[in-house]
Amino acid sequence: AKHGSDGATVVFHAQMEAELIEQAKLEQQLVEALDRREIKAAFQPVVDARSGDLCGVEALARWNSESGPIAPDVFIPVAERAGLIGILGSQILEEAVAQGSRWPGLHIAVNVSPLQLRNRYFAGGLKATLDKFGFEPNRLTIELTEGVLISNADQAKRSISEIKALGIKVALDDFGSGFASIGSLRQFRFDRVKLDKSLVANIEHDAQAAKVLDATIKLVNALGVPVTVEGIENRHQAEFARQAGSHQLQGYWFSKPLSKEELAERFLRRDCL
Ligand code: C2E
Ligand code: CA
Ligand code: CA
Ligand code: CA
Repeated sequence: AKHGSDGATVVFHAQMEAELIEQAKLEQQLVEALDRREIKAAFQPVVDARSGDLCGVEALARWNSESGPIAPDVFIPVAERAGLIGILGSQILEEAVAQGSRWPGLHIAVNVSPLQLRNRYFAGGLKATLDKFGFEPNRLTIELTEGVLISNADQAKRSISEIKALGIKVALDDFGSGFASIGSLRQFRFDRVKLDKSLVANIEHDAQAAKVLDATIKLVNALGVPVTVEGIENRHQAEFARQAGSHQLQGYWFSKPLSKEELAERFLRRDCL
């Protein structure tokens, strides 16, 4: 028995060590990628649920590394752990705002890590970027995940107030995927709530899931907060979310995230209120 458990321990250590080395490599790659500005923004359309017209876009970080594309769900946590999320976030923000200033009237949403909000210069940096490109604050939305609610960090709350005071909109992202409560929705007075794609997945096959989505949309609307449903992959889901009261929709059914050239070519001729 002793022999066996020792063997298992050795395997365990070897695995952990391999993972740590992998992480360290990725971190080093990320440092270089940021240095060379290789992480780019893709833009996913958000559409009006009735007309299908473009309302705005969400900027999503894309990294085509030398060894192939790496997903944000992989490199964002690495950036957060390595203290690189501030740099990454400001590069994406700058690209999104620079690009957005060439697309008159279009609304732009940018994802911001809760860690970025703990920097007391965050709101000031945002304002500087908007000023640099002459981008109207009310055309920018900052998307925050519930991590920011849980951590209860005073500086994060201060940053949110400052962002709102600048006239920038603040959205709660991924609602319904975790712990964010109705109470926190009321406390923070978000300008918009984005429902997580897990609430949409499977509603066409699961009557209970459909009821939960319907109720959640109505609940957020009842608090007076506009809803965007994400992860819409088919006509049924789009129609269901619209009828439940979601005015804005996003998902592969309308468009995957696009390069700025693709977006301009395919979407930028229409208007949306
Ligand atoms: P998110 O903010 O919830 O973004 C939506 C994700 O859903 C994106 O994944 C998007 O490509 C994907 N998606 C869009 N439509 C559909 C659909 O119909 N079906 C399915 N299954 N997925 C859909 P992506 O681009 O891989 O990003 C993953 C997450 O990484 C984002 O989730 C966000 O939390 C984070 N992220 C991405 N870019 C940034 C960034 O610049 N800064 C920060 N802090 N986080 C980012
Ligand atoms: Ca988002
Ligand atoms: Ca989301
Ligand atoms: Ca997410």
